[in-house]
Amino acid sequence: MSPAFPDPALGEPFLLTPGPLSTAWEVKDAMLRDWGSWDDGFRAMTRDLRSRLLAMVGDGAPAYDCVPIQGSGSYSVEAMLGSFVPKDGKVLVLANGAYGLRAAKTLQYLGRGLHLLDKGDYLPPRGAEVAGILASDPAITHVLAVHCETSSGILNPVEEIAEATHAAGRKLLIDSMSAFGALPLDVAALHCTAFVSSANKCIEGVPGFGFVIARKDEIASAKGNSHSLSLDVHAQWETMNKTGQWRFTPPTHTVAAFLKALDLHEAEGGAPARLARYSRNRDVVVEGLRGLGFETLLADRWLSPIIVTFFCPESPAFDFSRFYELMKGQGFIIYPGKLTVVDSFRIGCIGRMDEDVMRRVVKAAGFALSQMGVNSAAPPAAALEERKKLAA
Ligand SMILES: *Cc1c(COP(=O)(O)O)cnc(C)c1O
Repeated sequence: MSPAFPDPALGEPFLLTPGPLSTAWEVKDAMLRDWGSWDDGFRAMTRDLRSRLLAMVGDGAPAYDCVPIQGSGSYSVEAMLGSFVPKDGKVLVLANGAYGLRAAKTLQYLGRGLHLLDKGDYLPPRGAEVAGILASDPAITHVLAVHCETSSGILNPVEEIAEATHAAGRKLLIDSMSAFGALPLDVAALHCTAFVSSANKCIEGVPGFGFVIARKDEIASAKGNSHSLSLDVHAQWETMNKTGQWRFTPPTHTVAAFLKALDLHEAEGGAPARLARYSRNRDVVVEGLRGLGFETLLADRWLSPIIVTFFCPESPAFDFSRFYELMKGQGFIIYPGKLTVVDSFRIGCIGRMDEDVMRRVVKAAGFALSQMGVNSAAPPAAALEERKKLAA
């Protein structure tokens, strides 16, 4: 796979970020022509995209449909919430980071009822907690879970959340933005009403659209719910089924790139192979950086193969912006942390890169530390105290 990697020698750094991420040369190359949105060729591409995504959701696929939505991933989250939650509905949002909180804010904009369970920076919402809240608040109609909370990198326990939601007779919506395509998501087993993901995460396409995968009966009965013309999943679905077209200007080049990204996804061995590659990426970077003295925010059990949060070293010689520049100078774009309590940074494991690249990342980090005169990458005691909460 190496020749298809971004080549720092050509001035293109690796993006160790959770999307946009490093894409294959073939994916970029697929964008070098123009398509008419009305033309049969492009309509066939849209059809192909929808059916290939649906083929990835397990045995439940025939009961579901795939509706692409223009915009970044948040547009699809907003489309899902606005379309499936009726105007008098109420959503239990399970938040443990920025994306859960964004979903809650979206519901406030939409004027939908909200019950927010805010677990802070990274503690996972557990099934028993969900069951307790659903029993005590009968007005809740839907539960929103974030599959991988990309702000800390935690892999949330969606199976136990799904079980509690189903047992209480409520409907489950999942933000699987940064997980779908690598982590298993069996819609039937999870009794999932709808979930969303986007082009520029684990499928390794370029940004420009997201997609909602939802039960057909739920889409059919979502007519009239949406607050928004352009984010109405039912309307997009109806038009796409009738005419094969997107309602408004589609991101044609992004769609072409995405189909190429799907080819590569399939050729690699689908989601299981991608999960294996991302997991090796994570294992190499975690082991390597721990070897330099860095510590991860999360205990191994909660570490996702998507992105990992590391504490910044306590050493006064460490400066994040200097570290960032030193890493960038070696061809690696890293990602600042999003924790409110202690300083941190993140390393993404997804995108067109493998464990050899991750070994170079570790070497680059060691070089950056030596340039700054940091002798130990050990985090402050407060960081480790923080981490104990998760173990408790
Ligand atoms: C990337 C991501 C989103 C969408 O973010 P955009 O910037 O709008 O693409 C939503 N939820 C999660 C968990 C994500 O990782």
